[in-house]
Amino acid sequence: MLINNDTIIKDDNPLMREKSKSVKLPLSKEDRDLLMDMFNYVKDSINPEIAEEKNLRPAVGISAIQVGVPKRMAAVRLVDIDKNDNEIIHEYCLVNPKIISSSVQKAYLKSGEGCLSVLDEHEGYVVRNARITVESYDALQDKFIKIRARGYLAIVLQHELDHFEGKLFYDRINKENPFEEIKNALII
Ligand SMILES: [Zn+2]
Repeated sequence: MLINNDTIIKDDNPLMREKSKSVKLPLSKEDRDLLMDMFNYVKDSINPEIAEEKNLRPAVGISAIQVGVPKRMAAVRLVDIDKNDNEIIHEYCLVNPKIISSSVQKAYLKSGEGCLSVLDEHEGYVVRNARITVESYDALQDKFIKIRARGYLAIVLQHELDHFEGKLFYDRINKENPFEEIKNALII
């Protein structure tokens, strides 16, 4: 599937509010191909030359609903720093991911969140859980995995999983006080 800035569905489309359905395993060729196209989007999108040529907006994740397919699949790829200050690449092609536990502690990105399906600015803190454990099938490794995510990765995974429920990041911004201080929150 051709995935670019023009084909990605935006938040004025009611489909973005629909719940996505579980995916049958083993993956069909069609589902796997779509998930790989989504993964290649996020991978290519951070390369300025390819992004310009293919009309991609930089992203660290994309869910299938954003290309019009209401299935519980998401591709995630991001570079983070581990506790020893080493660069670490997190990359997943998730099928039916589920959060099985979350921390009490909250977290948010200082600069707010963005989304390939959202063109308008929505300022404010998007408050999420600081740590989550996700169980999922991963089509990159072709096995079931458990991800213990914290910080940025935890935020990105929660953002993508929200798409399965028809939720967008700005739904989680406090409308009365978008920059309300959150006690004990991890600020990223
Ligand atoms: Zn999004």
